Amino acid sequence: MKLCPYLCKLFQKLVYKHMIKITFPDKSIREFNNDVTGIEIARSISERLAKKVYAISVNGEVWDLTRPINKDASIKLHKWEDAEGKHAFWHSSAHLLAEALESLYPGIKFGIGPAIENGFYYDVDPGDEVIIKDNDLVRIEQKMTELARQNNSYIRKKINKAEALDYFTRKGDEYKVELISELVDEDIFLYTQGSFTDLCRGPHLPGTEPIKAIKLLSIAGAYWRGDETRKQLTRIYGITFPKKKMLDEYLIMLEEAKKRDHRRIGKELELFTFSQKVGQGLPLWLPKGAQLRERLENFLRKVQVDYGYLPVITPHIGQKELFITSGHYDKYGKDSFQPIHTPEEKEEFMLKPMNCPFHCEIYKSKPHSYRELPVRYAEFGTVYRYEQSGELHGLTRVRGFTQDDAHIFCRPDQLKEEFIKVIDIIFLIFKALDFNNFLTQVSLRDWENKEKYMGGEKNWKKAEKAILEACDEKGLDYIIEYGEAAFYGPKLDFMVKDALGRKWQLGTIQVDYNLPERFDLEYIGADDKRYRPVMIHRAPFGSLERFVAVLIEHTVGKFPLWLTPDQAVILPVSEKYNDYAKKVLNFLNNSDIRTLIDERNEKIGKKIRDNELKKIPYLLIVGEREVENKTVSVRKQGEGDQGAMKLTDFAKLIQEEIRKQLK
Ligand SMILES: [Zn+2]
Ligand SMILES: [Zn+2]
Repeated sequence: MKLCPYLCKLFQKLVYKHMIKITFPDKSIREFNNDVTGIEIARSISERLAKKVYAISVNGEVWDLTRPINKDASIKLHKWEDAEGKHAFWHSSAHLLAEALESLYPGIKFGIGPAIENGFYYDVDPGDEVIIKDNDLVRIEQKMTELARQNNSYIRKKINKAEALDYFTRKGDEYKVELISELVDEDIFLYTQGSFTDLCRGPHLPGTEPIKAIKLLSIAGAYWRGDETRKQLTRIYGITFPKKKMLDEYLIMLEEAKKRDHRRIGKELELFTFSQKVGQGLPLWLPKGAQLRERLENFLRKVQVDYGYLPVITPHIGQKELFITSGHYDKYGKDSFQPIHTPEEKEEFMLKPMNCPFHCEIYKSKPHSYRELPVRYAEFGTVYRYEQSGELHGLTRVRGFTQDDAHIFCRPDQLKEEFIKVIDIIFLIFKALDFNNFLTQVSLRDWENKEKYMGGEKNWKKAEKAILEACDEKGLDYIIEYGEAAFYGPKLDFMVKDALGRKWQLGTIQVDYNLPERFDLEYIGADDKRYRPVMIHRAPFGSLERFVAVLIEHTVGKFPLWLTPDQAVILPVSEKYNDYAKKVLNFLNNSDIRTLIDERNEKIGKKIRDNELKKIPYLLIVGEREVENKTVSVRKQGEGDQGAMKLTDFAKLIQEEIRKQLK
């Protein structure tokens, strides 16, 4: 049958009008019907994939898989492996927890219930008469499992503010009412699954079915909105997985992580402490910890001298004006430590959140020619950032910390070489500290929104190319994240994987076109004209606090020999040999080996056990035979008896082991 050509064209036009172009991460483009959803796109690839995706990014925004896409878009489907996928999974799980709670505790009121780094929590108010206790968690878990099996859909509904206020007022949930009344947006979204409705922006899973393994981990008190003057709510932490096996592995990892908790080990090894009187999140380094930290600093200092860094020292506070110029006041000012006032009216200082503005002023203190670049200023600079008290955690989240900071001011054509040199330094550190498992991420611009970046197209192109070439030349296996760059420059991040496979972000190398502009930094080019230098921020350790915490959790406190507080301990078999032990101590200390004596009147077996618990790498046992032969009997941590050795041989053994670690 032949259609009339006019009708045929009209038909095509109508169909065409209803097609949209979907761009995939590999830049391939396919056409779909208008209003296609993420889950339909996944299914068009394969049913298997559709079962594994939990969310979709549409033009950089994460959406529900069931939300219709009605214009051309770049998309990325998110599986469990992506942070966005886990986030949708755990956010949906928080709603499931709330549904279970509401059915077990009618009338319970809800605060907030976000997804967090590992799992989710919900802050709830079960009413003054009801207390939710640890042994209630199993019952709540069972309810969640029962509800998850119903495979209820998460249904999104747009309403306006008045309707939302009306809904939660009638429900009697004053916390939600408070949150809604502060919203500026008129459009408010509710999500309903089963019998439970929550205020939320999403995204969530299409339904509850993928939530197969559920564990509620703990209960804590949490003030409403983190404000101590307001009601304390009950915070329930949980985690969920798509497979039971994944939950089992996670729980084993959690047990193992407990044994490695740096807060406990740091206390046992007398490395650091905290004092309520000094203030939360302000670590106090004890002598052994301070010495360990000094060894880390000296190690890096020596490397930096080899790489042409110049030391600088800057104060802990600076005028507010300095941080307004740098833009840090905007970023850290409002919710952070407040300005320090002086007897002088209008004079205001701030604790420094960053060292960079000071280093910019140092650069500016004299003119620079293109020939003297790069200039590299290094400082172990202590900075202060106000973290919410609920966010503080041992040495990993603190309010005052010391960065192994440096700023490199260079010409654009020097970027690649400088990157290579910083990567070399990071490699030296990872080797010396036995982090042989790490990931590298290059954060570049979002190519769709180039206008939001400062520094100019030409510079960005050059910098992005320089980073990628530097990574290739160093043979790094890296992932590229488009859109993850800061607005002022691309960056390279190193994440180490610790012994439990947990990822920790450590070293960063960041290009910056913003601060040289804000501080009007210049150099004189070969043509006598003025140019802007490029700035590189870099901190291989990140901060000493965080680095030491990660190192403790990675090694369970068994530090590499060069770094460990006490390298050897002498154990006299009985008091009779204490004099000889002292001679050995003298000899080893003179050979720069950090040694102790355990002179307690205890059985040798007990002395060995106690000192092994202190993670001292070498135990040196001395008795009758050792005195006679002028030797020590060596036991190595984890490896047992090494036999008798002359003192000079033992010293050589230690020195050789250290030399290998620091090579
Ligand atoms: Zn939600
Ligand atoms: Zn900086």
